[in-house]
Amino acid sequence: MIVRKLPDSIVNRIAAGEVVERPASVVKELVENSLDAGATEIELIVRDGGRGLIAVSDNGAGMAADDLVLAVERHATSKLADDALSRIASFGFRGEALPSIGAVSRLTVTTRREGCETGWSLGVHAGRKGEAEPVAHAVGTRVEVRDLFFATPARLKFLKAAATETRHAVEAVYRLAMANPHIGFALSDGARSMVKLPRVKADAAAGRIERLGAIMGKDFAANAVAVEGERDGARLTGFAGLPTLNRRLAASQYLFVNGRPVRDRLLFGAIRVAYQGLLPSDRNAVAALFLDIDCEDVDVNVHPMKSEVRFRDANAIRGLLIASLRHALGGADHRAAVSLSGVAASFAPGFAAHSGGHASSAAYPRHAGTPGRFSGLRDPGPAHGFDLPGLAERPEARPVAAADQASDIARAYPLGAARAQLHATYIVAETADGLVIVDQHAAHERLTQERLKRALAQGGPARQGLLIPEVVELDEARCAAVVARADELAALGLAIEAFGHNAVIVRETPALLGAIEAGPLVRDLAEDLIGYDAALSLSERIDDIIATLACHHSVRAGRLLSSTEMNAMLREMETTAHAGQCSHGRPTYVELKLADIERLFGRR
Ligand code: ADP
Ligand code: MG
Repeated sequence: MIVRKLPDSIVNRIAAGEVVERPASVVKELVENSLDAGATEIELIVRDGGRGLIAVSDNGAGMAADDLVLAVERHATSKLADDALSRIASFGFRGEALPSIGAVSRLTVTTRREGCETGWSLGVHAGRKGEAEPVAHAVGTRVEVRDLFFATPARLKFLKAAATETRHAVEAVYRLAMANPHIGFALSDGARSMVKLPRVKADAAAGRIERLGAIMGKDFAANAVAVEGERDGARLTGFAGLPTLNRRLAASQYLFVNGRPVRDRLLFGAIRVAYQGLLPSDRNAVAALFLDIDCEDVDVNVHPMKSEVRFRDANAIRGLLIASLRHALGGADHRAAVSLSGVAASFAPGFAAHSGGHASSAAYPRHAGTPGRFSGLRDPGPAHGFDLPGLAERPEARPVAAADQASDIARAYPLGAARAQLHATYIVAETADGLVIVDQHAAHERLTQERLKRALAQGGPARQGLLIPEVVELDEARCAAVVARADELAALGLAIEAFGHNAVIVRETPALLGAIEAGPLVRDLAEDLIGYDAALSLSERIDDIIATLACHHSVRAGRLLSSTEMNAMLREMETTAHAGQCSHGRPTYVELKLADIERLFGRR
């Protein structure tokens, strides 16, 4: 056996397999190099999904001839000045990108450094390096990659359709652009412009949301709250979408660690936890979060593509994320409902162009665009004796508050004075400068949920014994899942025991829920529990459980409410966290400002 050192050409081709997975990875590496070089304008051409040509031009520092010659060599970098791998402040540091790309394509780097008389150009074709030649060039660098993977046909076969590869390349540019609002980005396929992100002028948070809005959409900019938090020198900033703005896929969650886009399971998990109970379990929040942390506390050198990171204290980071997001979302309650401005404008004659990008289709209830058929003010009549939590006495039947009294309330409270109940489903309230429409079922569900949470925090909700314990039949698996959690459920006020192999007996239910049917509740809980990881304690899924409980005790649509009940509900919503959306992420109320109404009538 002969042991020999592999020639550089082979080593580079092997490394290329790791660094250069697809055209988008080339785009990412080259744009990162431009950012490291201090560029303020970066222009890309991606032709034929990146197979034909990837060109990246920047106005950065450029390179002198001898640097250029070294730069395409393996492990040659200008970025680890003191060889300290624990302090990595630039994107690059491995010195692998240029030689790896050169190993599997026809690479040309053309560059001129400030103060140098001439520019220089150097080619590397399938790992064979040419000579540096003087050329005319502006200060900055242009890297051209042609015929990517022509030297490694196996890899070429795995590339997807050009449109797909282009989409990945655009996504890579977007990610870097989000973290760098003050740098201009443009990408075209040679003929058609696909990304145009001019440098943002505003600074700090305003600049960031401007760039995020340009990439993630106007509805994100209009429906996001600023996130800020700090813990042990780690700082989290960014923007998080209101729960009413949610998506089926988690692809709209962007995370950056020290400006570097990362995909980190720990951080994604923390976002999920922070939104727990605010979103249905099959929907995902939209967020762009930026974590800044001492380089010593994070290792970015986990993987050649540098999209994974390792934290020294992962739990502290997770905690910081959850706490900051919760705080930001908690403060957003009275913004959570969607403004009707956009919709109002969209069906007001002559105003279609001024929709203002407010109400997003994702966040907005489906029928909002159709003008409602108002059936007029209606006396709610006698309440049917259901117990709305929070009301000490049984609400007496009473017409809607006298007009003058109501307008005092309207001025005093954000959600105003209840004026009517429509279709036995919606509460209409008058506010100081508009009106609010509340979905009574959604709102009540949220209120119950938050009451249960508070009761739990104060040592467990009061229970009420059932006169006749209820036997609930379940299949064996569901039965076992419920029984295994019996102790934890008892702490929530639900006393359950096994009753043979496929039934449980319910003896007590949380008093807060009033008289409920135990059967459907236990079946729903069993459904929840069976989906949970056995390793998780219920307290980690408590918001889901509470949501299920709350759902079984809520003012259904179709019930008539007295004005006292309606106003009590509005007042409670104002003081309850997350009252702006139900646990399924739908808004509990929408607000229509007088200005919007005027627009509807073409008065503005
Ligand atoms: P790394 O970025 O890890 O240092 P690369 O192979 O990507 O490794 O680049 C090698 C070197 O080439 C860099 O350290 C830098 O000095 C130089 N370089 C690459 N791209 C540019 C650019 N766009 N502008 C100026 N210098 C560059
Ligand atoms: Mg690099």
